[in-house]
Amino acid sequence: MNILERYHAMEYGPAPEARNEADAWLAARDFSKALFIDGTWKAAGGGKTFETSEPSSGKLLAKVSDAGAVDIDAAVAAASKALPKWSASSSYTRAKVLYAIGRAMQRHQRLFAVLETIDNGKPIRESRDIDVPLAIRHFIHHAGWAQALDRDFPGQKGVGVVGQIIPWNFPLLMLAWKIAPALAAGCTVVLKPAEFTPLTAILFAEICERAGVPKGVVNIVQGGPEAGAAIVKHPGIQKIAFTGSSEVGKIIRKATAGSGKKLSLELGGKSAFIVFEDADLDSAVEGLVDGIWFNQGQVCCAGSRLLVQEGIADAFIAKVKVRMSRLRVGSPLDKNTDIGPLVDLTQLDRVKGLVAEGAKQGAVCWQPDAALPSSGYYHLPTLATGVSPANILAQEEVFGPVLATMTFRNTEEAIELANNTRYGLAASVWSENVNLALHVAPQLKAGVIWVNGTNMFDAACGFGGYRESGFGREGGREGMFEYLTAKLPLGPVIKPATVSAQPVEQADGAPIDRTAKLFIGGKQTRPDGNYSLAIAAAKGKLAGEVGLGNRKDIRDAVAAARACKAWPEATAYNRSQVLYYLAENLSGRAEEFAARLVQLTGATAKAAREEVDQSIERLFLYAGLADKFEGRVHQPPARAVTLALHEPVGVVGIVAPDNQPLLGFISLVAPALAMGNTVVAVPSERYPLLATDLYQVIEYSDVPAGAINIVTGRSAELAGVLAKHNDVDGLWLFADAETCAKAEAASVGNLKRIWSGNGRSLDWASEEAAGDALLRRAVEVKNVWVPYGD
Ligand code: NAD
Repeated sequence: MNILERYHAMEYGPAPEARNEADAWLAARDFSKALFIDGTWKAAGGGKTFETSEPSSGKLLAKVSDAGAVDIDAAVAAASKALPKWSASSSYTRAKVLYAIGRAMQRHQRLFAVLETIDNGKPIRESRDIDVPLAIRHFIHHAGWAQALDRDFPGQKGVGVVGQIIPWNFPLLMLAWKIAPALAAGCTVVLKPAEFTPLTAILFAEICERAGVPKGVVNIVQGGPEAGAAIVKHPGIQKIAFTGSSEVGKIIRKATAGSGKKLSLELGGKSAFIVFEDADLDSAVEGLVDGIWFNQGQVCCAGSRLLVQEGIADAFIAKVKVRMSRLRVGSPLDKNTDIGPLVDLTQLDRVKGLVAEGAKQGAVCWQPDAALPSSGYYHLPTLATGVSPANILAQEEVFGPVLATMTFRNTEEAIELANNTRYGLAASVWSENVNLALHVAPQLKAGVIWVNGTNMFDAACGFGGYRESGFGREGGREGMFEYLTAKLPLGPVIKPATVSAQPVEQADGAPIDRTAKLFIGGKQTRPDGNYSLAIAAAKGKLAGEVGLGNRKDIRDAVAAARACKAWPEATAYNRSQVLYYLAENLSGRAEEFAARLVQLTGATAKAAREEVDQSIERLFLYAGLADKFEGRVHQPPARAVTLALHEPVGVVGIVAPDNQPLLGFISLVAPALAMGNTVVAVPSERYPLLATDLYQVIEYSDVPAGAINIVTGRSAELAGVLAKHNDVDGLWLFADAETCAKAEAASVGNLKRIWSGNGRSLDWASEEAAGDALLRRAVEVKNVWVPYGD
C-alpha cells in the first residue's frame, strides 16, 4: 500500500508501546523474595510462590513469594515497631515523604504504566493516562493533608497499624487510594495486593526504598486469600481497609465483629447509566463506552445497567451498536486498543457463564462482528437487550464488558429501576436539563453520581458506596477520617442485663397504674406479644411497666421509619425548628423528668436536674446544627465541580445505654434526627420510663409520624433483630460487648453501617460526645460531579 492508499483507507497501523524496560525490570528481579517487610526483601516463610501471567498471552511473568501467617506476623511486627516514630514525626516530615513518593513515581511513570498493562491486561492508554497519573495525584494531594492534619482534623490522630487488602482491577491506583491517606494520618501499613497483579506494588515498594519512607512504615506482602485472612484477624492491626468483592467484604465484616477494629469496605456495584430523552445522545454514547468498556468493564463502578428513556431507546441503541463496532479489540500494549483481555481465564469463564445465563433468562446478547486475537483472555463487548429487572445480567455484578439495557417511561420509573439493586456505588445521569439531573441525583441510592459524565475520580473527592457496595469513603476529607480516630470520653463498661425477678410491690403513694406502650408511627401502640416489663425504682419498688417489644414490633417500627418521607424530605431549617420545639417542650416539663431520674436512678435532685438541663441543651445544639453540618464543593482538576452532599444514612437503629439515661438517649437520637434520618430507638433496658415519658413531648412537637419510633424491651434481643433487619441502614450500639459483637456479625445481610461502643458507654455530658463526631456518623457523603463548559 502506498502512502496515498493508506491515507484513503484511514486504517490504524500498529502502535505498540515499547516493553523493553519492563522486561528488563522483570528479568532483573528475584521474585522469590518479593515480600517487602521492614524495608527488606524477603522470601515467604513457608517458601511458597504463586504465578502471575500475562493476560494477553497467558505467558508466565513471574513466580512471586506467597505470604502465609508467619509473614503477616512479621509485617505487622515491623509496622508496629515503626508506628511510634512515624506517628510522632512532624506533619511536615510526613508531607515530605508523601511528596517524595509522588515525585519518584512520576519519574517512573512509563514503567509503572507498561508493567500494569502487562500484568493486568488493561489498555496502555488507560494505565498511562488514567491509572498512573491518578495514583500519583493521590500521593501529592495527601502530602497536603499530612501537613494540614492538626489544622483540619483537630483532636484526631492516626488509628495505628492498618491492614489493607486490594483487588486486581486497578492494582496501583487502589494501592495509592489505600496507602496515601494512611501515611498522611500517621498510620503504618501492611498492604496485600491481589494475586493476579502483584507487579506494580513491587515496583512501588522499590520507590518507597528510594523516597525515604522509614523502614516498617510501608510493608507490602504478596499473597492470596490466606494472607488476606491472616491480616484481617491479626490482633496487632487497628484498622482494616478492604477493596474487593461484596462476598469477601461480608466475610471480613463477620471476621472483625467485636474486635474493635475500624473497618472500611469498598465493594462491588451494578451502577445505572440513565439516559433521558433530552440528553446529548452522541456524548452519552461516548460516556457509555467509557462507563462500561473502560478496563473491559472490570470496574467496580462500571455503568453496567443502561436505562434509556423509551422514546429514544431505538435510536440510542442503534448509535451504541455502531460505536461498539468501532471499538478496537487487541493487544493492550497497542496505543490504539480500546478493549484488552480480561485479567485471567477464570474471569473470562465467569463472564461467559453469566452472559449465557442472562441469555437463557431471556436477554438478547449482541456483539460486534470483530475478530479476537488468537491468544489471551478476550471477550467481545456485549450488549444485552430485552433484559428484565430480575435477569441475572441486571442484578449480578458481571465485572466484564457486558452492558444490560432496560427502558423507562418517566423520571420516577428511571429512579425506581436505578435503585432496584442491592448495590449502591455510582450512577450516571444524562440530560441537557440541569434541573432534571440535579432532581434525580439526590434520589439515587449511590455514593457517587456523575451528571453527563462517568468514571470521574479525584483524590480530593470522596468515593465509596451505599448498601452492599460497602461503607467508608476513599479520597477527600471523608477519606482521611477513615484513618483517624478521636478519643471520646468513655463511660462505664456495659454489663449484660440480668433478667432479674420482677419487682411487684407498688411504691407508696404511686399514681394510678399506667403501662407505657411502644411508640410506633407516631402512635402509642401495644406490644405485639402483649407482655410487659416491670421497671424497678432505685429503691427496688415498682416504678411502672413498659411494653416488652419483640421482633414483630421492631419490624413495625422499621416499616414506619421507612414509610416516613416527611422527615428526610423536610428542609434542614424545618428539622431544626422541630428539634427546637422538642427542646422547648422538654424544658416545660423539666421538673417532672428530673423527678423521674431521681426515682429511677437514685440520683440527687441536683444531679438529675443537671442531666435534664444538659438534655435540653443538647437538643438545642442539634437543632442549631441541623442546617449547618453541610457538605462541600470540590474543585477537582477537571472542568467540573463536585458537590459533596451530606445525606441521611436512612433508617437508623439506636440501642441506648443505661448511664445518664435521658441524656444518653437524646445525645444519640437528636443528631440522627438532625441529619434527616428516621430512627428506631431501643431505650435503656433499665430506665426505659425516661424514654416513654418523652412520648407526649414528641407528640406535641410536630415530629412527623414515623420519624422517631421507640421500642422498649430487652436490649440484647432487640439489637439482634435490628442488626439482621435489611431495611435498617445504620445501627448505633451501646450495649454489652457480646451483644455488640453478635450484632456486628449479624449485620452482614445489607452491610449496614455500625457504630458500636464495644461494650463501653460514653460520658454523655462531655463536649466531645456531642457535635461533629456524631453528625459525621449520621450522614453518608454523596459526591455529585457536575461538569461545566461547552
Ligand atoms: P476479591 O474480593 O476476590 O479479592 C479482593 C482481595 O481480597 C484480593 O487481594 C484477595 O486476595 C483478597 N481476599 C480474598 N479472599 C479473602 C479473604 N477471605 N480474606 C481476606 N482477603 C481475601 O475481589 P477481586 O476479584 O480481586 O476484585 C473484584 C472486586 O473488587 C469486584 O467486586 C469490584 O467491584 C471490587 N472493587 C471495588 C472497588 C471500590 O472502590 N468499591 C474498586 C475496585 C474493585
